[in-house]
Amino acid sequence: MAAIEARGLSLTYATGDGPVHALSDVDLTVGEGEFVSLIGPSGCGKTTLLRVIADLERPTAGSIRVNGVTAEEARLQRAYGYVFQAPALLPWRRIEANVALPLEVMGLKREERRARARRQLDLVNLTGFERKFPWQLSGGMQQRASIARALALEPALLLMDEPFGALDEIVRDHLNEELLRLWARTGKTVVFVTHSIPEAVFLSTRIVVMSPRPGRITDIVPCDLGPDRPLEIRETPEFLRIAHRVREGLRAGHAYVG
Ligand code: ADP
Ligand code: MG
Repeated sequence: MAAIEARGLSLTYATGDGPVHALSDVDLTVGEGEFVSLIGPSGCGKTTLLRVIADLERPTAGSIRVNGVTAEEARLQRAYGYVFQAPALLPWRRIEANVALPLEVMGLKREERRARARRQLDLVNLTGFERKFPWQLSGGMQQRASIARALALEPALLLMDEPFGALDEIVRDHLNEELLRLWARTGKTVVFVTHSIPEAVFLSTRIVVMSPRPGRITDIVPCDLGPDRPLEIRETPEFLRIAHRVREGLRAGHAYVG
């Protein structure tokens, strides 16, 4: 069973200035345990596609299945965790209480909440910071806490929308390595939005290249670098070859401006 199956997805926003065609005829299958990145220029519909998978937007046309059920059923089953670009932690709650928030909403008992929150904090290397408040943590640590919160209900699917976009490059490199390890350890399916080519190539098993509005898929690039990826892999010919193909795909969509 595929983790995600999108067929002929289109989405048009109705706005005061007329319709905005955000997605056009998107076909995408994501297998269980894959790490798929969506890359494309700003405004090409990456967030929209993620929100359709999460059942936060309804497509205008086409169909979407998540874990073999409709996106709505998957949402009600809490089949996914969602990580936003900004950590969005509650400032008056300690880190552990932030991570445990989804568990509180689900009505889990205090001891179970604590055990689970600590397990997730360990996965993102924040053991020892449970009692801190968000403002006592660096930006990178806050984003790790928000990943732990997305993992709290132990979903098989993780949707991540430019989670490291606001961080400096050194912190981002470090979090990329941690995310790879987390992915390898947990076997989650990840759909990851970025507009960084090296980040996409470093992390992914496949890269979905999207064109500017209306967002279409212009290329799907396999990224067979194996599970063991030290940062230095970014200088290997294989890595550069994949990055080149992604860049060409973005250019072909008249997209690349960097
Ligand atoms: P990306 O994440 O790739 O930057 P988005 O999916 O956020 O792109 O947006 C795709 C297009 O749809 C953009 O032109 C954006 O302005 C528009 N858009 C996004 N959300 C809405 C909305 N709620 N109402 C109207 N237009 C929207
Ligand atoms: Mg976006």
